[in-house]
Amino acid sequence: MLTDAYGRVATDLRVSLTDRCNLRCAYCMPPEGLDWLPKPEVLTGDEIVRLITIGVEALGIREVRFTGGEPLLRPDLADIIAATAALEPRPEISLTTNGIGLDRRAAGLRAAGLDRINVSLDTLRPEVFRKLTRRDRLDDVLAGLAAAAAAGLTPVKVNTVLMRDLNDDEAPELLAYCLERGYELRFIEQMPLDAQHGWKRTEMVTSGEFSPCFLPRSSFQTISSTFVAPRPPRPSSSTTGRPGSA
Ligand code: SF4
Repeated sequence: MLTDAYGRVATDLRVSLTDRCNLRCAYCMPPEGLDWLPKPEVLTGDEIVRLITIGVEALGIREVRFTGGEPLLRPDLADIIAATAALEPRPEISLTTNGIGLDRRAAGLRAAGLDRINVSLDTLRPEVFRKLTRRDRLDDVLAGLAAAAAAGLTPVKVNTVLMRDLNDDEAPELLAYCLERGYELRFIEQMPLDAQHGWKRTEMVTSGEFSPCFLPRSSFQTISSTFVAPRPPRPSSSTTGRPGSA
């Protein structure tokens, strides 16, 4: 069991599969990207599965979340998920992604054993998306969300970072978009994780400012800063499990 000095037991394992990404979000990295890890320093699929196996079989890990960078950039992602799903006891398996390429891979990942997905989406406006991510890929992200829902990766979760004077006026639009499609939307405070040290507290929209007055109260529940649409019935499957965030 993984227990810290306060007696808290850790049962979730977050696995970063790559440091690379196909977006360049202004709050995350500079336009030119980062000094990516040389390939020999990145764990192979077998090495990653070996570590997860130790976590599940010996250390009490019950949930595995794959992240990046952008984890969809790993061509062996479905294999890693399938190997994780074959472990006993089977952990719940989730993925945090920017959604690019998900339209082509959602069904395969679901078939491999993926239970849940979180997709990062900060705006529905193409010009804001371009400014924020330095790429013109909004349509790809929206297609990825739809494919995830069609593949049964429900409830699809959407993670949004609101930033002052950039997209903080878009919260009602994003909430309506997600409610209409049965996605769960959560607003996340911007954290100072940017490699270029550009984070400013004055530009951050805090959880205290996320007002549950965007839409009529009857249309959602508020759980902390998560706005949850009424859930559609979850398809039954021997590979399902559940919960996450990006
Ligand atoms: S925030 Fe996520 S999607 Fe954006 S550049 Fe960083 S890793 Fe990529």
